[in-house]
Amino acid sequence: MPLREKQLIARIRRRSSGPWAGLGIGDDCAVLRLPRGEEVLVTTDFSLEGVHFRREWHPADAVGHRCLARGLSDIAAMGATPRAAFLSLALPADIEQHWVDEFLSGFLKLAKKYLVPLAGGDTAQSPDGVLADIVVLGSMPAGKAILRSGAKPGDLIYVTGRLGEPLADLNRMRKGETLRPGQHRKHFYPEPRVDVGKYLRKHKLASAMIDISDGLSTDLSHMCEESGVGAVVEAEAVPKAAGGKDGLALALHGGDEYELLFTSPADRRIPKQIAHVPITYIGKIVRGQKLNLIVPGGRSEPLPVRGWEHFNG
Ligand code: ADP
Ligand code: MG
Repeated sequence: MPLREKQLIARIRRRSSGPWAGLGIGDDCAVLRLPRGEEVLVTTDFSLEGVHFRREWHPADAVGHRCLARGLSDIAAMGATPRAAFLSLALPADIEQHWVDEFLSGFLKLAKKYLVPLAGGDTAQSPDGVLADIVVLGSMPAGKAILRSGAKPGDLIYVTGRLGEPLADLNRMRKGETLRPGQHRKHFYPEPRVDVGKYLRKHKLASAMIDISDGLSTDLSHMCEESGVGAVVEAEAVPKAAGGKDGLALALHGGDEYELLFTSPADRRIPKQIAHVPITYIGKIVRGQKLNLIVPGGRSEPLPVRGWEHFNG
């Protein structure tokens, strides 16, 4: 049985305090101070049992980690610095306290790494399954956010990291395989690219940016729609986690990547690595609104835009 609501909040408050944590939990509102001249960014994301994770597949600390990583990744995609997190948690009556403690461990470990205080939230009983809603506040110098809408014809397209592993892992678990989370960190403990996003903003390298949560093809289509442009992706250039034909499909359409997809004017030199993360050129922005894929051999075909697959599918 979980501790009653008040005790649970007291426990969260105790565990999330520290020199990096500042003010927050315990009053009606958190009071935050931002650096002078900066504006606030806010993002919110659900993590729902059966939709975004499964308790049979994902250990509690991975669920906590991924919950916060979703929010941090959105902040990263604007080039901002995360400043505070808020967690609304609804738990079924019969959940073990141990699960809740492990969830918090995963959540707070990532929070500490990025010095993001857990500054508040809400706690309630859920009629069915774990529901976690994360709100992350970030800040950055006013007017400097990297938007989805800034891509121009002629810009080059880049991605961070390698793509395809989270969906490959999901497919294996669907077939009944048990994966060891420590050996599949990209799926269970994805690293939000906060440092890369900030670097790109500080050095004015990106004209548009989005994080890959729904899959490269889908998120590229979002960016192109917002920018009013088309794109040509080179299949051979896409950094794939696995080889073969499957490797390409997984990399193009797999979700839950938490990598960054960005464009840069062609005359800008992009480092091969930023904050120890590889950066790979994958194609070009073009006029129009079509997305095309250049397949090995040089033929161009339409890039299919396939959506993100839920865990309940
Ligand atoms: P209120 O009824 O005024 O909203 P609550 O009793 O819900 O207050 O919460 C008390 C304090 O604990 C508030 O500061 C709130 O932000 C914090 N809090 C509640 N639930 C959580 C949670 N899951 N994570 C972090 N802080 C929480
Ligand atoms: Mg409340």
